[in-house]
Formats: sequence, C-alpha cells, structure tokens
Amino acid sequence: MFRQLTRRSAVIPQFTRSYIPGQFTGAKKANGKYTVTLIEGDGIGPEISEAVKEIYAAADVPIEWEPVDVTPLLIDGKTTLPQPAVDSVNKNLVALKGPLATPVGKGHSSMNLTLRRTFNLFANVRPCQSVQGFETPYKNVDTVLIRENTEGEYSGIEHTIVPGVVQSIKLITKPASEKVIRYAFEYAKSVNKPHVLVVHKASIMKLSDGLFVETAKEVGKEYPDVSLDYELLDNTSLKLASDPSDYKNIVMVMPNLYGDIMSDLSSGLIGGLGLTPSANMGNTVSIFEAVHGSAPDIAGKGLANPTALLLSSVMMLRHMSLNDYADKIDAAVKKTIASGPANRTGDLRGTASTQHFTAQVISNL
Ligand code: ATP
Repeated sequence: MFRQLTRRSAVIPQFTRSYIPGQFTGAKKANGKYTVTLIEGDGIGPEISEAVKEIYAAADVPIEWEPVDVTPLLIDGKTTLPQPAVDSVNKNLVALKGPLATPVGKGHSSMNLTLRRTFNLFANVRPCQSVQGFETPYKNVDTVLIRENTEGEYSGIEHTIVPGVVQSIKLITKPASEKVIRYAFEYAKSVNKPHVLVVHKASIMKLSDGLFVETAKEVGKEYPDVSLDYELLDNTSLKLASDPSDYKNIVMVMPNLYGDIMSDLSSGLIGGLGLTPSANMGNTVSIFEAVHGSAPDIAGKGLANPTALLLSSVMMLRHMSLNDYADKIDAAVKKTIASGPANRTGDLRGTASTQHFTAQVISNL
C-alpha cells in the first residue's frame, strides 16, 4: 500500500500562495510598521510565539507586536475576554494567536469559541500542503477546507431532559451557512481552484445539513464560473485517506464539527498537527492560529514545533499584502524542515529543540 502510494505521488508540490479573501484595512503607523495583536496562548504557546518573534525580527518584517492577556473572566456566568484584549484586536484588525486552553472547573466555556464569537470569525480556512523533503505516505497533498466557525455542533446548547437522558442541539442557520459558503466561493476564485465541494450528512440530518446544502445551491447560482458538488462526509473521509490528490483543485466547505475532524485528518496526511496553519476570518477582524492545541505534555520542554504558528503567520502576512516577507519566511521554514532530522523537532521524527529549529530558520532566511 505504502509503496504503491509513493509511486503514484511522484510530484512534490511547493507551497502555493494562499490568498485569503477579505480585505485587510489596517493602517501603517508613521514608522512604516503595522501593529499586530499577539495572543501567546497557553502550554507551548509562549515557546512557539517566541520563535515567531525571533524570526520576524531577523527577517525585518514591518510589524510591531501588541501582546495581550486573554485570561478569561466569568461575567454573569458567561466566559468573557478582558476588554483591553478585545480593544486591541478591534483596533489592529489582525491578530496572531497561540493555542488557548480553557480553564478547568470554573464554569468557563471554550476559550477558542469565545474568541470566535466575540469577533464573529465565521470562516476557518485550513490549508494542508505536503512539505517537500519530509517523507510521508502521500507526497502531493494540497487540500483546503473551510469550516463554519460559529454554530453547528459547537453551539453549546446542551441540557439534561431527565437523569440519564441528555440533549445536545446542533444549530444551523441560513445566515451563518450563507456567509461561510459565500466565503468559500470567493476563496475558490481567489486561489484559482474554481470548484467548491460541500461536505455534509444531509442523508441523516435532513433538516440541519439539508439547510446547509440548500443554501449552497442558492449561493452557487451567483458563481457560474465555480462548479459546485456535494459529498457525504463518510465518503469524503474514505476518499481523502485513500488518495488526497483527488482533492487538489477543490475547496471543501462544511459545518463546524466536520471541519474540525476533517482538518485533523488532513493534517495527518502531511505529517501532523505541528505543520498545519489556519485563518479565522470575520467581517473586519482576522485571527491566525495553528490548528493544534496547547500540547500540555511537552509544554516548557523546548520540544514544540513552531511551524504551524509560523505558517499561520505567513497566511497573515499574505492577508496583509506583505507577500515578499511571507515568501521569505515560508521558504526558510521549508528549507529547514527539508534539511534533515537534525533540524526538525520530535513530532517530525527529528532531534532539534524549538530553539535550534528557530536558529536554523533564521540562518535560512
Ligand atoms: P488541547 O486540550 O489544548 O487541545 P491536546 O493535548 O488535547 O491539547 P494538542 O495540543 O493538539 O491536543 O496535542 C495533541 C498531540 O500533538 C500532543 O501529543 C502534542 O504534544 C502534539 N503536538 C501538538 N502540537 C504540537 C507542536 N506544535 N509541536 C509538537 N507536538 C505537538
């Protein structure tokens, strides 16, 4: 199986430009630099954020970081972000975010959800591309999925009906579906992959996923140059794991939970969570973050791979039209990973510490 796949996957693609639709309207300061809010995050967050800061300083990227504390507050039983953090993101319109852990046992809801709701970050863009020089069973992975980010199975509406019987509500609304689907069409046009695939399970969830599919049919009429297809989630899982090259020229769009699961599946195809970036897009604000969590098992040990956060920052630079800096950092990261196990972190079967990897990226800039 492995050998057969390797033979079939002879072409090793380079990372392509991944333009994120949605206009960045932030202004440069008098010194020619942009201010970007930095949420370092928990667990390995501070270590990988430090790596990004060092590499940005070495690459002379015209960005000044504005670090903010997002330790959540519980106001009227609701998880709330500290106002200075909210003000900073609203002012700068762009943020880079490390992984956040939700405080346990204090009645807090998910920090990531709180952030997405606070800034109405309705679309989560998750590209997955093979990294040249890092051996995996598939060599030509180039997928992108767009996850609805605000509702679905993550609506947080759960209750006990009687002891032993609980109910969890999957909320799908036409406005939220329309927003993310329209975004997927715009994205598909901008990256020249004029094919949108709606991944769903309307065969079972006839009303909720049915509405998502019906909405896509309506929105699709406005995009005659982009083809539109539908596929059942289980079928997509099977096909993606069997031959990801079938999804190369497609933009997948799907409800929240499916996007969460399918993006981890896609990460596995290219070497794991340490490599996968993402962008959370709102109407005006965008927050870029790694797909992985806070990795508490390796936090503080100097073992974390900063690549996912770095590549998220590369997406951010492209969003800000700082493409030359994006290309430079992107190339240096890839070159470092390709240069062998001594310069790769443990999650990529390497022996390098976070610091060593960072120093190598800087020397490859
Ligand atoms: P959380 O509850 O914050 O989501 P988690 O441990 O459930 O944390 P992840 O943080 O995503 O989930 O970690 C899953 C596994 O992947 C862990 O073994 C972790 O060490 C590893 N991992 C995740 N991110 C990285 C990274 N950047 N570098 C190295 N290993 C990582």
